[in-house]
Amino acid sequence: MHELGIVVKVLEQVDAAAEENGAEKVLGVTMEVGEVSSIVPDLFTDAFDWAKKKTRYAQDAKLNMIIIEGRTYCQSCGETYRTTEYGRKCPHCGSFETYLLTGDQVIVKDISATFPEQEQTG
Ligand SMILES: [Zn+2]
Repeated sequence: MHELGIVVKVLEQVDAAAEENGAEKVLGVTMEVGEVSSIVPDLFTDAFDWAKKKTRYAQDAKLNMIIIEGRTYCQSCGETYRTTEYGRKCPHCGSFETYLLTGDQVIVKDISATFPEQEQTG
C-alpha cells in the first residue's frame, strides 16, 4: 500500500512545520487530494491514523481531506471536462490532445495546532 509512504512523508512535513513554528501539539491536518491522484482516501486515512502515533506533534491529529475534482483541458477545442468521466478523450470534439489541469495533487493545505502561549491565557 503506497499510501503509507505518502502519509509518512506528509507527517514528516507536519512535524517539521510544527517544530519550526514552535507548536505544542498538532490538532488537525487538512489535505487536498485530487480524485485522479493515486490515493485511495480510505486507505490514506487508515495509514494516517497508524503513522501519526509515531510522530512527535501529531499523535492526536485529525485528518481532513478535501477531494479535488479531476479536470482535463482540451487543446483542440479549448474546453475542459471531468477527467473521471471521460479520461483522455475530449467529450466535446473527440480529440486526445488533452492534459490534466487539476486533480492529481496530494498536498498539505493547512495544519492546525496549539501553541504554548495559548495555554497560559486565563
Ligand atoms: Zn475538445
